[in-house]
Amino acid sequence: PDLDSLTGELDQQHVFHSWSAQGPLTPFVIASGRGSRVWDHAGNSYLDFSSQLVNVNIGHQHPAVIGAIREQASLLATVAPATANLARGEAAKRVAALAPDGFKKVFFTNGGADANENAIRMARQFTGRDTVLSTYRSYHGNTGAAVVATGDWRRIPNEFARGHVHFFGPYLYRSEFWADSPEQESERALRHLERVIQSEGPSSIAAILLESIPGTAGVLVPPPGYLAGVRALADRYGIMLIFDEVMAGFGRSGRWFAFDGHDVVPDLITFAKGVNSGYVPTGGVIISDPIAHFFDDRVFPGGLTYSGHPLAMASIVAALDAMASEGIVENAASVGRDHIAPALAALFNDHPIIGEVRGEGVFWALELVADRSTREPVSAAVMGRIKKELLARGLLPFLADNRIHVVPPCVVTPEEVAEAAAIYDEVLSLDLLS
Ligand code: PLP
Repeated sequence: PDLDSLTGELDQQHVFHSWSAQGPLTPFVIASGRGSRVWDHAGNSYLDFSSQLVNVNIGHQHPAVIGAIREQASLLATVAPATANLARGEAAKRVAALAPDGFKKVFFTNGGADANENAIRMARQFTGRDTVLSTYRSYHGNTGAAVVATGDWRRIPNEFARGHVHFFGPYLYRSEFWADSPEQESERALRHLERVIQSEGPSSIAAILLESIPGTAGVLVPPPGYLAGVRALADRYGIMLIFDEVMAGFGRSGRWFAFDGHDVVPDLITFAKGVNSGYVPTGGVIISDPIAHFFDDRVFPGGLTYSGHPLAMASIVAALDAMASEGIVENAASVGRDHIAPALAALFNDHPIIGEVRGEGVFWALELVADRSTREPVSAAVMGRIKKELLARGLLPFLADNRIHVVPPCVVTPEEVAEAAAIYDEVLSLDLLS
């Protein structure tokens, strides 16, 4: 049988998809994967430069992670959250060890949205305050508070949670602050945030929730001093700082956490995706000691049946151990610096449709414009054509608005980068704008 057609038919008849009108959809069929590649049932191969939803950091089908899931499944496939379980303890110990000093405890969730949901809850309980500040250019997940903390269009039809206020973060290429240098953008964005805090009333603000590198919004690497400046404002006004590392964490930036190297320590860290590369759904909150101890003699009013699910926990242990022993985060940093950065710089030189290249590690965006001087974004139709042409040449891309996000697994090789760069080059050479 033609399994690709069968998959498509079943999908169209019975599967209800995320963030889409359900009318004829033709999702890309994936049957199998290995490393930075996926295959359809017919055996056609594609370079996965999406890492699916920017989560398969360790690459597809890493044998140690698959083996650990298999082993745990044969021992104990599920367990109640209020019990103690060795895999959960080992996973929590490893995740906490990657955070700065002063973070010892981890609350596990089913994914990134409920990680943010529970971090917000912890900050509200701890401060006795209500309001959560987050940026317009952000995505924090699809649950009650997380989707309203989100800044992009997905918030609008879902805006039922109260206590959320948005502000603009730094984005020099499309500056909200008329800035013309990273330093100026940082300084003015901080000044804007402080004015929002003052205007909302500092004593009402529980938390500032920030992606360390806003991902879906465009890989907006913060300018020097910005994250430390936000920390200083949070300290000045008694506000908890939550870094959302769901997409940026676990090697994507070339560091374990994207905020590493920014000389800043948050109060809560949320994670998911790259922690186990999504082999089993999971996420969580890494909790700093003062907030963890606050709940020593107070009930934490939150929980999940699958908090610390053993299959997910075993996959975290194996994934983090393999990432450390195989130097996978270092690979993301060096391939990013020595191969992706120069390849994308060459594309920028050759293709005026690229308005800006930005990123680090294996976390990059090509911002496409109809005109470099006006910076007018290319249309959705142009992006649709680009997607089709990339797929036709064997590259599975990640596209968002007018951008190609170049986000391969952290295990990507220099040869795979060269292969992908040649495909991007060929497609961007087409007459796309007429
Ligand atoms: N936070 C960030 C930064 C994300 O990129 C995402 C998902 O893309 C989420 C939270 C939500 O995670 P999940 O889809 O696992 O709920």
